[in-house]
Amino acid sequence: MTDFKNMPVSKKYKMLYHLAYAEDKESLPFKINADILVSNLTEECAREMMVSYLPMLPLLENTVHLEDADYILFGHCYARIRDMSGIVIKELKYIDKHRKPGAEIIVVGKAANVENLLNGSIENITFWGDRFTEKLGKKFDMDIKEEYLVYDDRFDVLNIWPVDGCNKQCSFCRRTYMDIKFESIPYDQIKAELDHIKKTHPEHLKHISLRAENLTEYGLDLTGHQDLAKLINLIDSYDEVETISFPIGMCISEITPEILDALCKSKKIDVVYLNIEAGSDRLLKLINKGHDKKKCLEVFHRLREAHPNIYIISNIMIGLPTEELIDIYELVDFVCDLDIDYLWINYFGVTEKMPLAKLPQLSPQLSEYHLKLFINMLRKREDNPLLRFGYPRILDKSKRKTYRELQKLAEEQKYYDNGVSLGTNSTFTPESKKLRKIPELRF
Ligand code: SF4
Repeated sequence: MTDFKNMPVSKKYKMLYHLAYAEDKESLPFKINADILVSNLTEECAREMMVSYLPMLPLLENTVHLEDADYILFGHCYARIRDMSGIVIKELKYIDKHRKPGAEIIVVGKAANVENLLNGSIENITFWGDRFTEKLGKKFDMDIKEEYLVYDDRFDVLNIWPVDGCNKQCSFCRRTYMDIKFESIPYDQIKAELDHIKKTHPEHLKHISLRAENLTEYGLDLTGHQDLAKLINLIDSYDEVETISFPIGMCISEITPEILDALCKSKKIDVVYLNIEAGSDRLLKLINKGHDKKKCLEVFHRLREAHPNIYIISNIMIGLPTEELIDIYELVDFVCDLDIDYLWINYFGVTEKMPLAKLPQLSPQLSEYHLKLFINMLRKREDNPLLRFGYPRILDKSKRKTYRELQKLAEEQKYYDNGVSLGTNSTFTPESKKLRKIPELRF
């Protein structure tokens, strides 16, 4: 029998992506097909992969061809970058047509959002949006369930996902039209698991990555309070922990004084990702982000003051509905004032289900103009921060490819619901400053 419990994550990934059909299918307790599930996983987010799909591996040892299966597992990232409900429905109809009589389709994770769209048009189908690994374990009598603390040997980091879902409704976000259950993992459960790791593999505690869709809301469903500060203090209290990073999930508007104090007090915080999204209070209100510039400045400056070498990452969207030149000027000033280390630059792309779709949209040409203006103004600023950012080709005037590249990007991104990164590192290096050291990023 394969020892999945002690198998490193790197090996689990390999197994998952090279899933083999069971050799002796007659002796299987049940026959399951996971072909489409696995082929859809390439776009799935790290949380779903590590928390839900990797623990599912023992079940997938029973995989057979679609036509032979008693059960067909279906998962899809659904709307991770753009709304893909049409693709999900098409694939489910294909499975419905090709399954053997009586075979059950089990739709897991975010793809379960299509249940309402299907309107009962497919029979013998089950939808499990949350805790689906645990539900599969019960159904097939296997010892499998979600794992919320996962040591990733590829980056020497212990990932902790203390909460799933988000209660906010930013009007550019897929959360406004998707149903993902909000659920925190009890503090005592996280502590017990950390204590266990301390005893069995203390070296795995060295680098902690705290991550979730919305970390700042951790605990709300359990205690009625935001308990992230308590969690940070707990992690900080382990001597074995050397660094704590927050590569996703810190919502600036929901950073309470207690959370900010905990972030500033711990000497182990090295990377924080804080999404500003826009640079004028008018646009921030329009996208319902919940924070204003004053709040951002307070958070960024307190963090920098407490940890001069902290690596702060942020992102912005260019091309928001009603965006004007004045918003771009303000954005340049704002990015400089915040002293960000790395900036992801996204185009805003609209999809019809998004609340912002009701507003008049900028033309692709105007969005591109705003983007170029933003980058050129930032370049010329003497006081620009020590900033690394996306897409070097935008600056490559000598090759005169800018317009073509931007057109290509606009085309690629036109269906994306909150934009995508424009590329890899480029760096502004003001003469007067030396670049801050980049920590070894463990995403
Ligand atoms: S806080 Fe993040 S996850 Fe939540 S609605 Fe806003 S953008 Fe989406």
